[in-house]
Amino acid sequence: MVLPYERIFTLMTTNTTYHIAIIGAGPRGLSGLEQLCLQYSGLNTTQTSYLGPDHIHLTLFNDKETLGPGTPWEIDQTPHNWLNISDRALENLEGRVAMHWRDLHIPSFPSYIDWCDKHDYRTYTNARDYFPSRSQMGQYLKARFKSIALPLKDYGVLKVITQKVIEVKTERNFLSIKTTSGQIDTLFHESVLTIGHQPTTDSPQIKKWKAHSKTTAAILIDNCYRKDLRSTIGSAIGIRGMGLAMIDVVRLLAHANHNYFTAASPVGPFLKYHIKNRSFEHIVLFSLDGFPPAPKPVGKRIDRKFAPSKKQRKAFKKEIKTHLDYASEQHSPNFLVEAFAKIAAAIYQSLSNEVGYSFDQETQLQEVIKDQVNNKNFKHEACINRSLPKIDYLKRLCLMAFGKAPFSLDYVVGQVWRHLQPDMYRLFAHTGLPDATMDKIVAIDEGTKAYSYGPPVKSVLQLIAMMESGILRLDVSSNPDIKTIPQGWQLSNSTTTYKVDTMINTVLDKPKLEAITAPILTNLLKDDVICPVSSDLGVATKANALIESKDASFTAGLAMLGRNCKGSVLGVDAILECFSPEITHWATGVLTRHLAYIDS
Ligand SMILES: Cc1cc2nc3c(=O)[nH]c(=O)nc-3n(C[C@H](O)[C@H](O)[C@H](O)COP(=O)(O)OP(=O)(O)OC[C@H]3O[C@@H](n4cnc5c(N)ncnc54)[C@H](O)[C@@H]3O)c2cc1C
Repeated sequence: MVLPYERIFTLMTTNTTYHIAIIGAGPRGLSGLEQLCLQYSGLNTTQTSYLGPDHIHLTLFNDKETLGPGTPWEIDQTPHNWLNISDRALENLEGRVAMHWRDLHIPSFPSYIDWCDKHDYRTYTNARDYFPSRSQMGQYLKARFKSIALPLKDYGVLKVITQKVIEVKTERNFLSIKTTSGQIDTLFHESVLTIGHQPTTDSPQIKKWKAHSKTTAAILIDNCYRKDLRSTIGSAIGIRGMGLAMIDVVRLLAHANHNYFTAASPVGPFLKYHIKNRSFEHIVLFSLDGFPPAPKPVGKRIDRKFAPSKKQRKAFKKEIKTHLDYASEQHSPNFLVEAFAKIAAAIYQSLSNEVGYSFDQETQLQEVIKDQVNNKNFKHEACINRSLPKIDYLKRLCLMAFGKAPFSLDYVVGQVWRHLQPDMYRLFAHTGLPDATMDKIVAIDEGTKAYSYGPPVKSVLQLIAMMESGILRLDVSSNPDIKTIPQGWQLSNSTTTYKVDTMINTVLDKPKLEAITAPILTNLLKDDVICPVSSDLGVATKANALIESKDASFTAGLAMLGRNCKGSVLGVDAILECFSPEITHWATGVLTRHLAYIDS
């Protein structure tokens, strides 16, 4: 039964229960729930007499049945989708402590690595990292969610609504929520949106291709993670985008018809691709720059060469903080680039005979590093030669990943950047920097991702083996000329032409608020409740995750966390960031506002 508004309003204002909605039950929704319980369970006995579990009610909305994994970590996805972060780095995914909130008990939950040990899942050695399947991480998140949600549900504190939220509106400082099934008959004091990836408007190219595929035999796959992908495609495949999603799709296609990889030689490291049944004529990759991402170092022994020391990290953080103290005066990202260049230069020099090019002076090296960070297409003899045939280019990067070829400057810089990313993500959250400066810092971080978010080396070895087998083609990979033809598409450059009957789009939507088409966000934008940090970025939020509204009188407890706030925060698209201090700040803010509400 849906209650009329005046009635609901009366109910809410006379009732002592504080209503909190969490929209989106992926890793951030899970982390939000945990942090909230942690805050409330940390109160003393007197406080819990008026802030006990019976004074709060949580409603969790998720548009999918399974709670915890969110979309990237779905438990029923193919095992060919791997993590791009090693299990060694996941040592930092800590467990949850047990919580006692009056007579409500929430059990502890192990860290990711302890959970893997408990389930006899393989983990890393000193020499070699291991990159599990994303569905394995999904199982961890699902179990962790269940272990907190069950006691909360049993106590009557938590209600789960498996529906898609399409509207969040303010009603006299409360929030009302509408799902695809209609208006929810509760008004909320607080709501946090942890909704992850959202769809955006189609680019002109995709729009044109969608129309083309409707009127011809051409097959366009716009969602490269659809479960029926293998049964929907033809035999000549084009793949738009050469990032991590491309690697997932290529590995899935590689294993069709029991095809497989073995070591090419006993001494390694390269692989051989065995085709038992050739189901594809060719798979043609392309993107704007035409380069796949660089592999991560194979394990700790190599990777530690690129890790800044504690002293270097401390100096880096101190230098950045000095500038952030005057954030509004920083009209360029140079302070970040300079602080970084000092550390990257020192690490490069310390590698002395392991690098392919020597610089006489560290200051000269710092200048080259700054140019490289500012321009991802920068060329220098110290950097890998990007005009090498693609197969040789990728082999060289793999040999570097194994420590079997001299490191190029770009490789070193990319790895050092990755090591400093967690520090940068903390430093560049809610800085007060001018929007244009933050825009540039986001662009610099994105520019490093071909290295810093690189795949496991095995993924790149598989690409190489498939290239050697003749199935995987990168000879038109750099921004080819693309024509629609009745049978599909024709991709060409000055020397080579391929025809494909299927086009798979692996370019994932950017968190650009103005391009997002999901009603939950377009409605908030239309009502002037949210605004973007800048035209290319996500929603402006405060340090406690509450949204920065255009409307100064807006005071409701509406918060947002994650990739849709890109620009307010720097680090969003990483599992470890889902358990970051930003989530704690939101939870402490809820408790503070709850106390103020009781006092009012
Ligand atoms: C394909 C892919 C691969 C990735 N691989 C890695 C990786 O290897 N390593 C890594 O560190 N990070 C990876 N990421 C980054 C990943 O986004 C984060 O690690 C993490 O999943 C973000 O969590 P989240 O809770 O913010 O969002 P999500 O995980 O996206 O969860 C959002 C939840 O909200 C629900 N939802 C969305 N809209 C609504 C609505 N309107 N109403 C109700 N519910 C809604 C969704 O169903 C989902 O359950 C990957 C991302 C993608 C897309």
